[in-house]
Amino acid sequence: MPSHISHALLVEAALESLTVDRLDCSLTDDPRVHSVTLLGSQGPDVFLHNHRRKPRAFRYGALLHRKGNAGLVSSLARSAAEIRVFDPTDDDRNRAFLEVAAFTLGYISHVWLDRIMHPYINYSAGWRGVPDRDPDRPAMHAFLERIIDVQLLRYRCGLSVQEFRFFERLPSSSDDLAILRTHVARAIRSSLRSAGDDHLLEQRLANALFDSLSYYRHTESPSPEYFFLGRAREREGSISSRWLSVVHPPEELITLDGLNRVHRYWQHPCDPSRTSHASVPDLFDRARKKTIEVFLLWWDATGSPENPERTRVLETALGEENLNDGITGDPPCRRQVCDPLPLLTLYRQMKRAFDR
Ligand SMILES: [Zn+2]
Repeated sequence: MPSHISHALLVEAALESLTVDRLDCSLTDDPRVHSVTLLGSQGPDVFLHNHRRKPRAFRYGALLHRKGNAGLVSSLARSAAEIRVFDPTDDDRNRAFLEVAAFTLGYISHVWLDRIMHPYINYSAGWRGVPDRDPDRPAMHAFLERIIDVQLLRYRCGLSVQEFRFFERLPSSSDDLAILRTHVARAIRSSLRSAGDDHLLEQRLANALFDSLSYYRHTESPSPEYFFLGRAREREGSISSRWLSVVHPPEELITLDGLNRVHRYWQHPCDPSRTSHASVPDLFDRARKKTIEVFLLWWDATGSPENPERTRVLETALGEENLNDGITGDPPCRRQVCDPLPLLTLYRQMKRAFDR
């Protein structure tokens, strides 16, 4: 999956493209609603950060990267249609509707960015055992994703990770998202058979959110001291050599073109006949267009609670392709080809910069 800042940038770009006229209501005026779009843009990755609090939602992270997203998004449309009102004086219902819409916009953007960007990331980072058996190879996927975060943020907004302040843009842990959680839990239950009888699902969602917020807070803006300490602890053997891949690396030490601005040739890892020279900004723009197209269908589908035709159109437009490769359903396709960037060399160079 692309990392969290890339996802945040995409939903913010999609919001900019959705005009008030097209939606007859703005999702951007209210900072809290805006923060919910960012939460939605993290998609099922939020579940993958649920390592501490129990009962955990971790398994839903992996499952939703493989299947169930068309059903989930159409279930959110049904919920939104039930609460949608056109009476501007009914603040509570309007707020609930806007939160579901904001979350869904973010979620749809997550689906498209994962599908469209993952093949490039897999081709450019390799994976466990490919093309070598280096123990750090699996970490190169996350390392490249964080390099992309840093470089995309600079490319699009001229900002550093420290200036962007991702964590502060999210809902805070004291925000009451109980109503939204109810709708998201209902959507997961209706789209994943194995969640159908999970009576603890809403608690799991709350736990995943808490753990994600604490992960984002702790990795928000690592200081030089963080890197010196990480390196020292790695050398003592008290942490894994992969520690550097879970934070955004120092921008000034990144010496490679993670965004493929030179339009290097690459292939879909599962299907070498699918070739491309697309850069990350090209892929980002493709994902932005797909997000808007599908979100407008979602918005249409919220016009009435029972509208099988609009629901079908929406589900077809989102599709059932998994989020890991974007071309097949479940299970994901078998990856065959890659040509990694010199990430391992950079990774080690960067660590040596923090040897005392
Ligand atoms: Zn993802």
